[in-house]
Amino acid sequence: MTATIIDGKAFAAGLRTRIAAQVATFTESAGRAPGLAVVLVGEDAASAVYVRNKGKATQGAGMISIEHRLAADVAQDELLALVDTLNADSAIDGILVQLPLPGHIDERAVTTRIDPDKDVDGFHPVNAGRLATGIAGFVPCTPLGCVMLLKDTLGDLTGLDAVVIGRSNIVGKPMAQLLIAESCTVTVAHSRTRDLSTVVKRADIVIAAVGRPEMVKGDWLKPGATVIDVGINRTEAGLVGDVDFAGAMSVAGAVTPVPGGVGPMTIACLLRNTLVSAARREGVVLDEAAL
Ligand code: NAD
Repeated sequence: MTATIIDGKAFAAGLRTRIAAQVATFTESAGRAPGLAVVLVGEDAASAVYVRNKGKATQGAGMISIEHRLAADVAQDELLALVDTLNADSAIDGILVQLPLPGHIDERAVTTRIDPDKDVDGFHPVNAGRLATGIAGFVPCTPLGCVMLLKDTLGDLTGLDAVVIGRSNIVGKPMAQLLIAESCTVTVAHSRTRDLSTVVKRADIVIAAVGRPEMVKGDWLKPGATVIDVGINRTEAGLVGDVDFAGAMSVAGAVTPVPGGVGPMTIACLLRNTLVSAARREGVVLDEAAL
């Protein structure tokens, strides 16, 4: 048996086209384009690549991208003051502070300073609470992209057994919330889980968000399972996920590749959240079902 490869790159390209169409409608109606401010502190090479890609994608969708680069030794108060300025700027609909921040800065102080209604990353506790209680807010981009791929692959997810491996605030926990909202039966596994392979074996849906190269083996999987690999691990052999792709392909029903699976969805969902924010702020009605 050979699984289907879930083409996140193609799905994300389609989503970005649909977003761009609605950005054009928004811009005509509001008299301005949606604006995203991205703040990068320091010189971290991977973060600089992410920020550049986000900026390009934002402009590619017809939105305005404004980048703020601060020195690695910037004072926390200066960063918070920039966040305050962006919160008050009516042309800015989304604010993203690229993580990780240098050690002398309290990340929580920064993410909680962002206006929850401009928090397009969905990391503010207010948005975590909204997600947990079913109130419209902003959902973190990576798990949002995963659920889109799952629904595109499987249709209705009701009643399916889902195992999320990882309990981080930015992937594992919001992923679990989204799957509960889709009426899955959800298990969250983590570093202290006993007998992980047995836990994974029962799952119709496996989400791997750990950060350990090829940890999830093919023979852990239930035959026909749908596997979403969030992991991005740089190894000598190149970029690999948290799932042994070749092993999974011989047992699963569908698998996301790394790269080309979840990664492109994360950026597309950031564009989506920025457009949704702009529309809410300006009272413009979008065709959200197409997003
Ligand atoms: P994290 O380090 O914050 O969390 C990792 C989680 O894995 C923890 O909850 C931990 O309990 C769990 N874990 C660690 N060892 C384990 C083990 N042996 N067995 C079971 N669980 C274990 O990481 P994160 O920010 O959630 O990211 C996870 C991975 O996803 C990383 O590889 C990251 O690079 C990747 N990621 C990808 C995207 C994307 O756009 N594709 C976005 C965010 C994160």
